Amino acid sequence: MTAASVIDLLDLDRADTEALLAGWGLKPFHGRNLFKWIHKHGVDDFDAMTDLSRALRERLAQETRIGIPRMVAEQPSADGTVKWVLELADGQRVETVHIPEDKRRTLCVSSQVGCALDCRFCATARQGFNRNLTTAEIIGQVWFASRRLGPMPTNVVMMGMGEPLANFDAVVKAMGMMQDDFGYMLAKQRVTLSTSGVVPNIHRLAQVSDVSLAVSLHAPDNALRDQLVPINRKYPLEELIPACRAYLRGDRRRRITWEYVMLDGVNDSDRHAKSLIRLLEGTPSKVNLIPFNPFPGSGFGTSPPERVEAFRLRLLRSGLVTTTRKTRGDEIAAACGQLVGRVQDRSRRTLPVSLQQH
Ligand code: SAH
Repeated sequence: MTAASVIDLLDLDRADTEALLAGWGLKPFHGRNLFKWIHKHGVDDFDAMTDLSRALRERLAQETRIGIPRMVAEQPSADGTVKWVLELADGQRVETVHIPEDKRRTLCVSSQVGCALDCRFCATARQGFNRNLTTAEIIGQVWFASRRLGPMPTNVVMMGMGEPLANFDAVVKAMGMMQDDFGYMLAKQRVTLSTSGVVPNIHRLAQVSDVSLAVSLHAPDNALRDQLVPINRKYPLEELIPACRAYLRGDRRRRITWEYVMLDGVNDSDRHAKSLIRLLEGTPSKVNLIPFNPFPGSGFGTSPPERVEAFRLRLLRSGLVTTTRKTRGDEIAAACGQLVGRVQDRSRRTLPVSLQQH
């Protein structure tokens, strides 16, 4: 059997794993145990899965594999952040970042090789787009990090390379595996999907998932957002905001996190703060200000810390919960918007098919 015809078990969620083994004439609990060995215990050696029969282990070894991404670099930062460069079977590379805080261990996971969306201030966008990651390649990042670190991450943010809602099915399935009690056991508040605002897929997400939603807003009006986050031309604020509000389903415990990168002299004035307050009125919100992480040739500057603080206080006084994201891992280019991986054949900067349909 060739490597390509072998089933990658990382592509299978618990139900799929049970179905695979059911097809081999085995009861569902065997599938559940296999899933647990792989994800909960981080085991990739079938021989170590001692409660599976020898015959099953042999068949698994012959007909399946566990396609873990290959680490090609590990870059620790002085603040404890670690960035891994992971190589996929076709030689593409993506980056995954681990950000330890007091009690949290947050893993920032990539969803695509590059990104097709072209946000002006983001280094990943400069890489262009090659392809979507598979479920195996998304959950493989979590598998890899859990095994590498010992303990599993306590939080996952889909905030690495790519637009997760442009890779809907693979991302949703992988997030389900993160939430699975026999997988990574993450509660819904501990898995966050960040989107630039693919409105139809926000509506779809509401049907199938309950993870936390973060939205890369970055501007309080269409004119400016059209410039900074070009997908706004397709899905403007008057569609985005109601979609986000609907995502909360009236649950008072939930809020949308709005990410807002502070660009010097571009979107950081008192006037912008005022329009932002007006825009978010009536939507349960949390605003997360992100100091801009510069990269060569970006053409943008970082707002001075006093400006960021003044902006934050202005929002806060209006009753908006507002925090400033601490910059982590910037000296290893692991901070927001700095992930580049290695995108071969970067020419595909057109909207992926899943976006064109709408
Ligand atoms: N494509 C998704 C997931 C990426 S999350 C999205 O857009 O939400 C990464 C976050 O970092 C986004 O909010 C993005 O807008 C922000 N970002 C991009 N470039 C940045 C930079 N240079 N400095 C700070 N934040 C940046």
